[in-house]
Amino acid sequence: MTMKYLTVEERLNANVWDVDVYRPHIKIRDPALCKRCEKKPCTYMCPAKCYVQQGDGVVLSTEACVECGTCRVVCPYDNIDWDYPRSGMGIWYRES
Ligand code: SF4
Ligand code: SF4
Repeated sequence: MTMKYLTVEERLNANVWDVDVYRPHIKIRDPALCKRCEKKPCTYMCPAKCYVQQGDGVVLSTEACVECGTCRVVCPYDNIDWDYPRSGMGIWYRES
């Protein structure tokens, strides 16, 4: 039997989310600071593409977050307020 290798996108698509729409678990502390952030690593290090550059700044949407914590680590200005979603919410990992 040959094993089928999945892309990162295919693996992510196998998961399900219960999005906590009333309490985003990640926030940008000071959006104005993002405008001065030269490399904006959040926009290319987040595997779920939650951060998108818009003009000089960044827009964050946490719906597809996989709770890896990468954005918190790579932000050079400690400008991300990060927490897990409330209990039972957020990503539910599925084997694929
Ligand atoms: S890395 Fe941090 S400071 Fe830079 S754009 Fe992203 S959230 Fe803003
Ligand atoms: S925790 Fe991971 S998936 Fe979620 S926004 Fe940060 S880098 Fe993206």
